[in-house]
Amino acid sequence: MELVTKVRKNSWLFLRRAIKELVSHDDSKDNGLTEETATISTMFIQIAFELSLVAHFIKKDGIHGIVKGSDSSLTEEELLAKFEDNDLNTKSFNSLKKQAIDNHVFLYDDDKCLIDEFQKVRNKLVHLNYKFDTNDLYDLKYDLTYFIVKVIIPILSEEYDRPSEAISINLDSKDFVKLINFPPYAYEMYKVAKKQSDFVYKCVHCENESLAVDYGNEHCYSCCFDYTGAGFIDCPYCKSRVAMIYDALNIDAQGDLTIRALCLKCKKDDMVYHCQKCDAEVALKASAGGGKCHFGYCEWDE
Ligand SMILES: [Zn+2]
Ligand SMILES: [Zn+2]
Ligand SMILES: [Zn+2]
Repeated sequence: MELVTKVRKNSWLFLRRAIKELVSHDDSKDNGLTEETATISTMFIQIAFELSLVAHFIKKDGIHGIVKGSDSSLTEEELLAKFEDNDLNTKSFNSLKKQAIDNHVFLYDDDKCLIDEFQKVRNKLVHLNYKFDTNDLYDLKYDLTYFIVKVIIPILSEEYDRPSEAISINLDSKDFVKLINFPPYAYEMYKVAKKQSDFVYKCVHCENESLAVDYGNEHCYSCCFDYTGAGFIDCPYCKSRVAMIYDALNIDAQGDLTIRALCLKCKKDDMVYHCQKCDAEVALKASAGGGKCHFGYCEWDE
C-alpha cells in the first residue's frame, strides 16, 4: 500500500474513534461533555490531526517531506526500509504545523489559535492531567466538531465543501446517523449549507436544517441526500423563496401534469402544475381563480 494511503488510514482509525466517543454524548439537554468524553475525543482527534498533516506532506513532498536530520540525505528506498522498521527519524508535530501554517494548508488563518489550544490540551493530558472547567466542557463539543469538519477533513480527505461525504464513506453507518443527529454537528452543517446558498431548509430525510437549495446543485450537507431531481418553487403561503418542493422528475408523467408539493418551511402543501406551453410551475390551490396556468389553460394563451 502506498505510504500516503497507509498514514491516512491510520488517521481515520483515530478519527472514527474520536467521532464515536463524541457522539456517545447525550446532547438532548444541551449539557457539556463529560470529562471522559472530552479527554478521549480530544486525544484521538489530536492524533488524527497529526497524522493527517504527515499524510499531507508525504503527498506533497514525498517521504523526504517528513524526515529530519541525517535521514534527509537518504534515498527514498532507504527511507521506506526505515519506515518498515519503525525507525524513521520524523519531523516533530511543531515543525509540520509551522510548515502547514507557512504554506496556508489550513482553510482559515484564525484556526491557528484553535490548533495551538488543542495541542496544549493534548500535551497536558499526556504528561499530567488537564483540568477542564464547565465552560470548556460545553464549548468543546462545538470546538471538536468544528475541528473535525473544518480542519482535519479538508487536509485528510481534500474535501472542502462536503465534509459529510468524506465522513460517510469512512464511518460505520450507525455512527454516521448518530453524528448527523448530534446538534453541534447539525449546526456545523447548517453553516456549511449556508455558505452554498441563501436558501437553506430542513431536509426531509434527516430533518437537519442543511438542505441548500442551490440551483442545479441541491444537496443536504448532513445526510448527503442529493435533491437534484427535485423541483423547488417559491411558497405562496409563507413566501419563502424556493421552499416548496415537488418531484420534478415525475411531474410530466402525470396525466394532469400535476403533483403534490410541500413547503419545507411552513409545511403547507399544495398541488403543483407544470404548464407545457410557458414552462410555469403553479401552486394550484394557492392560485385558484387567479387566472394562472392550469390543466388545459395557459395564461399566455390569446
Ligand atoms: Zn439530510
Ligand atoms: Zn411556506
Ligand atoms: Zn402557461
